[in-house]
Amino acid sequence: MMEKNLETLLRIKETQLIKAFEANNMTCLFVKDKEELMHYLRGVLNLQKKVAVGGSVTLNQLGVIDFIRESDVDFIDRYEEGISRDEMMNRFREGFFADLLITSTNALTMDGCLYNVDGTGNRVAAMIFGPKEVIVIAGLNKICQDEEEAIAHIRGCSAPANAMRLNKKTPCVKTGQCNDCHSTDRICSSYVKLAYQGQVNRIKVIIIEENLGY
Ligand code: SF4
Repeated sequence: MMEKNLETLLRIKETQLIKAFEANNMTCLFVKDKEELMHYLRGVLNLQKKVAVGGSVTLNQLGVIDFIRESDVDFIDRYEEGISRDEMMNRFREGFFADLLITSTNALTMDGCLYNVDGTGNRVAAMIFGPKEVIVIAGLNKICQDEEEAIAHIRGCSAPANAMRLNKKTPCVKTGQCNDCHSTDRICSSYVKLAYQGQVNRIKVIIIEENLGY
């Protein structure tokens, strides 16, 4: 259980974030834990939708990938074991025609924006356009005050940690900090900020009250 002053602080941030995302035509919802999240997803996933996911440690930690696999949906499963690189790229493309994309985000800010860096780019491309709906699931550790803090989080945490996870031979794996490398192993190609959306409520941000992913 969260300490009472931290709980109060979180509720203040919750109100501010909901308002900020609404002002940018996105919805924002806080859920306490995995159980509440799955309850929400159960309601969303029971309609035989075509579903795609963005590459995400958060989704794997929460068991969302297995939850989708067990749901009554047409899942474009990028994580299926044994598929070739070509097949994976085909699934990335197919994802643009999904009814729903479920993904995480590298960072989100108190003014209601999402920040991500991608290598292949399929995840950020589908967040921007293609899937009819996008659900973004993020832990508390992804909340940043502003753009400067979001970029610092990505350069000092998200990107180096992902490079480590993928066994890349990049400088950040040794230094723990982005060195803006020109390595052939570089995983950072597209830096994307999602701000005010023309399509109202296409993007729904769900913040789960624990630290997840990076
Ligand atoms: S640009 Fe290179 S050094 Fe910077 S985080 Fe990405 S892979 Fe690491």
